[in-house]
Amino acid sequence: MTLPRIGIDFDGVIIDHRPHKLRLAEALGFVLEPWQTNANVMERHLEDDSYRSVQKSLYGELTVQAPPVKDALETLARLPAELYVISARRPENVASARSWMAKHRLHDIVPEDRVIFCSSGKDKREHVERLGISIFLDDKIAYLDFLPERVRRVLFDEDDVMARLAVPPQMETAASWPEFELLVSGGEREPTRRSGA
Ligand SMILES: [Mg+2]
Repeated sequence: MTLPRIGIDFDGVIIDHRPHKLRLAEALGFVLEPWQTNANVMERHLEDDSYRSVQKSLYGELTVQAPPVKDALETLARLPAELYVISARRPENVASARSWMAKHRLHDIVPEDRVIFCSSGKDKREHVERLGISIFLDDKIAYLDFLPERVRRVLFDEDDVMARLAVPPQMETAASWPEFELLVSGGEREPTRRSGA
């Protein structure tokens, strides 16, 4: 049996930046609710300079201290798939991601040669096409939107942003890693859709 190839985003899907985002925003004078730190909306809740400064710390020196997303590593280890981690990070922020991966032994689950860094969200598409990836999990709607239509695009949505934003109907959503696992193993299962607010 050939295993399906699944592509997984890194930031906000495997590594959890939320505690750092809340703390950094607060230090800059912005008290955010947890959902306001979501990658799809955080920019709207901070001033430009503050947003840039938060991003710089998160993807730089703070990366290695960030915890894994709940159940991420355990579930990844169980998925019946050939896994690829495809992350859009600037070149200067790749070393911190690699340190995190080494610290959490990610390469015991996803071999190092299946971890790909590209410089923009748009660039994920060419890797997805080249590798024949059939399912992609990402926390950014815009990045999933760049992917080919034949790919099952799954929005990782721990913050329930789909209740607040227009998620394109062709995208599926998983509110947690166990939900993603169910979706992968259930094949044709209808995606969970909550009512919009
Ligand atoms: Mg992400």
